[in-house]
Amino acid sequence: MTDNRFADIILPIAVRGRFTYRIPDNLIDKIRPGVRVTVPFGRQNLYSGIVCSIHDSQPDVKNLRSITEVPDHVPSINEIQLKLWLWISEYYLCSEGEVMKAALPSDSSLSSYRPRLETFIGLAVDFTDDELNEMLDKLSKAPRQHELLSTYIRLTEYSTGSEIKLLSKQVLISESKSSPAILDTLIRKGILRSVSSAVTRLSRSERSVEPVHALSNAQSVAFDSIKNQFKEKDIVLLHGITSSGKTEIYIRLIEEQLNMGKQVLYMLPEIALTTQIIHRLKKHFGEITGVYHSRFSDAEKVEIWKKVAEDDTQNGYRLILGVRSSLFLPFSNLGLIIVDEEHDGSYKQHDPAPRYHARDTAIMLAALHSCKTILGSASPSVESYNNAVNGKYGLAELKERFGLIKLPGIVIANTREAYRKKLMVSHFTPELLEAMDDALGKEEQIILFQNRRGFSPYIECSECGWIPVCIQCAVNLTYHKGIRRLVCHYCGYTTGVPVKCGNCHSTGMVTRGFGTEKIEDEIKIVFPDARVARMDQDSTRKKNSFNSIIKAFEDRRIDILIGTQMISKGLDFENLTVVGILNADNMLNFPDFRAHERSYQLMEQVSGRAGRRQKQGKVVIQTADPTNRIIRLVLRHDYEGLFRSQAEERTTFNYPPFCRMVRLNIKHKDRSLLNHYADILGNDLRTIFGKRVLGPEFPLIGQVQLWYIKTILIKIEREKPPANAKKRILEAIDRLEKEKGASSLKIAIDVDPY
Ligand code: ADP
Ligand code: ZN
Ligand code: ZN
Repeated sequence: MTDNRFADIILPIAVRGRFTYRIPDNLIDKIRPGVRVTVPFGRQNLYSGIVCSIHDSQPDVKNLRSITEVPDHVPSINEIQLKLWLWISEYYLCSEGEVMKAALPSDSSLSSYRPRLETFIGLAVDFTDDELNEMLDKLSKAPRQHELLSTYIRLTEYSTGSEIKLLSKQVLISESKSSPAILDTLIRKGILRSVSSAVTRLSRSERSVEPVHALSNAQSVAFDSIKNQFKEKDIVLLHGITSSGKTEIYIRLIEEQLNMGKQVLYMLPEIALTTQIIHRLKKHFGEITGVYHSRFSDAEKVEIWKKVAEDDTQNGYRLILGVRSSLFLPFSNLGLIIVDEEHDGSYKQHDPAPRYHARDTAIMLAALHSCKTILGSASPSVESYNNAVNGKYGLAELKERFGLIKLPGIVIANTREAYRKKLMVSHFTPELLEAMDDALGKEEQIILFQNRRGFSPYIECSECGWIPVCIQCAVNLTYHKGIRRLVCHYCGYTTGVPVKCGNCHSTGMVTRGFGTEKIEDEIKIVFPDARVARMDQDSTRKKNSFNSIIKAFEDRRIDILIGTQMISKGLDFENLTVVGILNADNMLNFPDFRAHERSYQLMEQVSGRAGRRQKQGKVVIQTADPTNRIIRLVLRHDYEGLFRSQAEERTTFNYPPFCRMVRLNIKHKDRSLLNHYADILGNDLRTIFGKRVLGPEFPLIGQVQLWYIKTILIKIEREKPPANAKKRILEAIDRLEKEKGASSLKIAIDVDPY
């Protein structure tokens, strides 16, 4: 009996299901679930896949192909990871291959991985001082060789009988002002030798480890309450106002787990946040702390991956701080997962699949490790707070700021009235200008928040109202003054700024609205002596730009920092006292059932940056609608009020968390064919789900990159597990895909759209 064993394999492609291959006899010893293998797929391609299971039932296919090889030195996936992948694919209705693509550093990078080698130089043998002196004498006719050898001896302090120390080749050459050729000559003469050795690509941190802080009374109460509730519940929501010291509580919980030899995953929604928190963590936990996010190169990611897999060795990582993709690291022994800023929308991946929510997936991962999850927020999601209120999660609260600093005072500035009375200076109300003036006078710092990047969201002909739009998407182009171009924020298309109107040819093109770039420009005119910087997607394209802006602000080299939601969360600055929210209206008016919740969270978060030490801070919210219900709630920092109003609305209109939702995005390049197929699918789904199907309809942006888009929303009841409903949705999609011509459609499934 030969070759009668088979393996089911995950391949990094969008087709659902696993693929069966024959295991050749010579590889049988190496194949286990989780092992990475190379297999032929399609005409000539070799793919790297992951083995899920091994069996001996011959599949009923012709030309069954065999596994080609099992690359050496490639870490495999552990059983828990395989289970998590399967769960994600079943819950979020995608293929395991799509999860694999998101989970592994790059398609095949684990096997492409090479350690970074550095060359070191040492003496070829342990010469005596006499022997060395003799050599140096001989080399006096070759002064550069002489210099190199004596530099080596000086730097390593070598003398008879001492250990041969290795010096970095680079250092030796630069210190002796020498060259690789001269070094080679000494190596050839048998005096020196070179060795290569793997070095880390990851930056090293300070070594000193400080003890964790003592908790305040309120913090101790919350800490004890979390621990108590963990006796009965797997998930506790820590609802603590901004600057109440949630992070300090996490640090305590982390310490306990590390002492028990467990791993901890600490998740944050945004890369910008990791730069500050990592310092706080490394200060206490030192070298076992690692960071993981998408700005790392594949080689760096692989190195982190390995350090997590080797958690029990001295060089391993046991505490990982990361954004959503850190869920996929090869943890084997998690004791706790912390999801900080759990309400944050950045935890949901939109495109491509897997469209997973990292908070919800973290809860699943914790279950697979039988460990606990702590969700933290100053303004929890309606979903999580609802789970806490009805007892599914535990709830711990922190209602005072550390040091008993008061929450910032909030001033609502009426822009409509200020415009009418001609009191506005550019986009700034008198209230905001006064607060800023005051802060600058005391050498305190300011953050201005505007949730739009670029200079102006659109430009317009002042004669006829013509607006330049993207050639591929149904959106206005945003004007970016720095690069003097119009940019589409959906597809990246850019074009020059037209001098003349494309419709009436007048030269009266004017900018409308304002983004961060414009605020930066104008603030420099209003406060010419202030040092101004901007933090948004455009100003942080380079890898370390977050660090440098945050560092500059910490070091007080920036007086006024202007930014998008990137600056709204989690950051902790000592000397920041004034926060300005330039336009609260555009977020409040966004057409989405979560718009009010999100606006509240954003305003509460960004306000929370102000006055975190010693002094109470001040927040100015600019709005044309000062009586707005949500703004009044922010004014009173009334989270419970927000929750009650949202829960009531969503019960009445049947929205999450009181139902589940699945959104289908259907795309086609031809508008009428899109209408045709979307209707077929909509009608089919209506025969199953009746009135709980909404649409098909065009979303706010009805065309992106030449693809027209229609969405269908399906509401599924909460009471039953959703698996059956999801199965029927997939079946309906399968039926549509069998229709003639339907292969030119793209259909994306978004479970729990966020
Ligand atoms: P949150 O995460 O709730 O916004 P932080 O944990 O960042 O709050 O705490 C706010 C500030 O107060 C931080 O600078 C933190 O170092 C400080 N702080 C909080 N708790 C303590 C404590 N127990 N001892 C010393 N400093 C603390
Ligand atoms: Zn576009
Ligand atoms: Zn015109």
